Amino acid sequence: MDTFQEATNAEETLDPPDWAEVGALSHRILDDAIAYLKDVRDRPVWRGMPAEVRAFFGAPLPRSPAPAADVYDDVARNLMPYPMGNVHPRFWSWYMGSSNFTGALGDFLAAIQGSNLGGGNHAAGLMDSQVVNWMKEMVGFPTSASGTLVSGGSMANIIGLTVARNVKAGVDVRERGVGAIPRPLRYYASDQVHSCHRKAMELLGLGNRALRRIPTDAGLRIDIAALKAAIAEDRAAGFKPACVIGTAGTVNTGAVDDLQALASVAAEEDLWFHVDGCIGALIAIAPESRSLVAGIERADSIALDPHKWLHAPFEAGCALVRDASAHRNTFAVTPEYLESTPRGLASGEWLHDYGLQTSRGFRALKIWMALKEHGVEKFGRLIDQNIAQARHLTGLIEAEPALELMAPTTINIVSFRHRLAGASEERLKAFNTEIMLRLQEEGIAALSDTTVHGRHCLRVAIANHRTRRDDLDLVVGEMLRLGREIEAATPA
Ligand SMILES: *Cc1c(COP(=O)(O)O)cnc(C)c1O
Repeated sequence: MDTFQEATNAEETLDPPDWAEVGALSHRILDDAIAYLKDVRDRPVWRGMPAEVRAFFGAPLPRSPAPAADVYDDVARNLMPYPMGNVHPRFWSWYMGSSNFTGALGDFLAAIQGSNLGGGNHAAGLMDSQVVNWMKEMVGFPTSASGTLVSGGSMANIIGLTVARNVKAGVDVRERGVGAIPRPLRYYASDQVHSCHRKAMELLGLGNRALRRIPTDAGLRIDIAALKAAIAEDRAAGFKPACVIGTAGTVNTGAVDDLQALASVAAEEDLWFHVDGCIGALIAIAPESRSLVAGIERADSIALDPHKWLHAPFEAGCALVRDASAHRNTFAVTPEYLESTPRGLASGEWLHDYGLQTSRGFRALKIWMALKEHGVEKFGRLIDQNIAQARHLTGLIEAEPALELMAPTTINIVSFRHRLAGASEERLKAFNTEIMLRLQEEGIAALSDTTVHGRHCLRVAIANHRTRRDDLDLVVGEMLRLGREIEAATPA
């Protein structure tokens, strides 16, 4: 019987008819992947896509089969050359990690092993719990705390804020809903709080206004006296102050709120203390910088982000909750089709009881493999290295009359701008935006921009294990060149 007949007679499967052929293709893909990362420094950080590439992604639903090798060729030609760029040594936009090869192998093996981390009695479940335990250890949480791996920091914050709501509501909010809460809950955070908290407040049914933004000091840290005043004002007006969110590393400037002071305010005022540590919680493992986040271990819940400073391939976030039963009581539901059994596959822990997802991806393996390979101390040193690099860049900016620092550098985020003599704020914004866009379009570096206390600035966020100091020297030189070119071409 020839293969065609065999295929038509047999029942269908997605498995390949010829595993040897798949092996050859897989080896090619692996070799290409290694070369891709090895040479990443030699390619532009980012490049625009030509029209034919854009058109390629408009192709209709495929109806007939194509050889896997042709499918890969499409990917190699149209996808791989046009990445976001965050694996490049000169990518410092927004805030994200730069991935790692071992983590990528972890993602591959997780997909091959294929387990669903909703729970159950299998090795991947144990590994998921082990990685959560390692996260607790990194931030100084007790082993009795609970936690869950989620898609990212936004979801991790939602988990923490939801447990806070249910604990502080004063009614069974799961049964009766937010309408039954006797006194409206109030949450507090600095005016630098990440936008995901707004989404969380909306989703929790508390509303955006229930999150009071407290002013920040010159260092962009929450003003503790203003926080206390807001709490007193709310109590007098009949609200129930429920939760204070401290940020360990704001996304704008990397400011770290005074976590010790916030923990004390929370204790005195009987508030839930949540720390958004998506950027900075892991500074707790950095030998030279860890004192910056002292007090994080006093939190009731912490959101952190392994796809930032642990460089896990996207996605991986983690929520930790000190009181494991409060965490479980917020999310656990046992439907009849997910009951536990005394032995066998359904005798393990139901990990979906700690969050919103039922099916869960095997995020732990990519984190686990990279941590085992390098050890946590190396990740700590890399965090210190990024912080030292940000100090180096800050020094370059302070030494260069054409550049101006726009916020104090606390950790690995530098906010600054190019000066333009006599220019209005509006013209400065246009000028600096043009510099930023040309740096991207010429493939030199990816920066982003923001507004700090009302003033536009450029922003370099170095959460990148491939960045070297000379990359920062280079970008400063290129900014000065572009500044001169743009200034020469635009009439004053
Ligand atoms: C990145 C970030 C978030 C959101 O995390 P995601 O992983 O992007 O969902 C929340 N808060 C802070 C401070 C962040 O830096």
